[in-house]
Amino acid sequence: LADTHSLQASFADPEWLAAHWMPFTGNRQFKAAPRLFTAASGTHYTTADGRQIFDGLSGLWCCGLGHGRPELVDAVARQLATLDYSPAFQFGHPLSFELANQIVARMPKDSGLNRVFFTASGSEAADTSLKIARAYWRAQGQASKTRLIGRVKGYHGVNFGGISVGGIVGNRKTFGQGIEADHLPHTQPPSGSFFKGMPPTGAELADELLNLIALHDASTIAAVIVEPFSGSAGVVIPPVGYLQRLREICTQHNILLIFDEVITGFGRAGAWTGAEAFGVTPDLLNFAKQVSNGVQPLGGVVAKQEIYDSFMQSGGPDYLLELPHGYTYSAHPVACAAALATLAVMEQEHTLDQVRTLAPAFEEKVHNLRGARHVADIRNYGLAAGLTITAHPGEPARRPFEIAMSMFKKGFYVRYGGDTIQLAPPFISTPAQLDSLINALGESLSEVA
Ligand code: PLP
Repeated sequence: LADTHSLQASFADPEWLAAHWMPFTGNRQFKAAPRLFTAASGTHYTTADGRQIFDGLSGLWCCGLGHGRPELVDAVARQLATLDYSPAFQFGHPLSFELANQIVARMPKDSGLNRVFFTASGSEAADTSLKIARAYWRAQGQASKTRLIGRVKGYHGVNFGGISVGGIVGNRKTFGQGIEADHLPHTQPPSGSFFKGMPPTGAELADELLNLIALHDASTIAAVIVEPFSGSAGVVIPPVGYLQRLREICTQHNILLIFDEVITGFGRAGAWTGAEAFGVTPDLLNFAKQVSNGVQPLGGVVAKQEIYDSFMQSGGPDYLLELPHGYTYSAHPVACAAALATLAVMEQEHTLDQVRTLAPAFEEKVHNLRGARHVADIRNYGLAAGLTITAHPGEPARRPFEIAMSMFKKGFYVRYGGDTIQLAPPFISTPAQLDSLINALGESLSEVA
């Protein structure tokens, strides 16, 4: 059996490293200077060479409770020993039903979001929600409503539906034609705005949806999908009133509104959902990541009951399936056990209160970087922040990479993507840890050319 110790000799072997084609990674640079984590506990990773690294992005926005939580370790181990897999189709297991109820209980009050379809990832949640939207209109006798509308800078994972509505150019242009989609403009304020939390202006950007409706006609549009706030584009926060306006227009024109809450769901926004934090209810709500604290792959879509009911009503004889869709790992029992334990810990530890308490201090600290070298803008909400970094001439992605590498040397993991640095510290961070993170980032910004 290979363990980390016995593998140690291979860590610098280019042939050994070559076999794994790493996702969203500069493979050539990585394999020339690998950054390997071999353990994690609390707010820190341990590297292969024994260094402690503060987890400034909670893994990939998913490990807010920190690492190595005994409650999660026990729940996963127990479930593995009891029921390690159960067929996802035509048969079930109790944990998925319990988890669905627990998730529904955390949806905004009176939202009607009470039917949960499970997936194993955020990308699968995105494509599931888009397929449900199209199939819903077909079930309603309006099969012409197929077009999907996303947003520039939007990120909805990497599957064909998700990249079609997604608006991060680099994730789309390599792959040719997607599915029928159009895009709203993004809501990122101009560089130099340095708004704390929600931008005070920009709600009118939602009215662009009226132009797309005029262009395509609502009879061809199935759904609009947006992240309440986007993470991967560099933390883009909705202007005050923007999501409300989108909701109004969708309702008026019979278009479903989908919130992709893969990052905003389950704590990051200081609430169970971004829908609750921003006071706007979608028709479908996607989640993943933090729901299981990242320790097992789990995602899903919460639908309003009327959507679920319309499938049941048009489903034909009751032994037939109403929606021909699902994954081998939909509601995997071990992932469900991890998610149930995650939600229980979050309740016991009052995690949402913790996030709401830390958020103002985090906002203050991160905005202290205004004026630091290379910083063109700073955006934040809850325990998430994004910095726009001025471009190195002709190479906009270079400085963020160099800043992140400098941070890694100092003992901090942060995400770099496009022209941004992204921060999403664990919910269990102490104020002193947040100070250290921001101080180190200040130093790295000044050190990078
Ligand atoms: N949707 C949003 C808003 C995300 O931020 C992400 C991942 O960062 C995804 C979807 C994709 O999730 P996954 O990587 O689990 O497929």
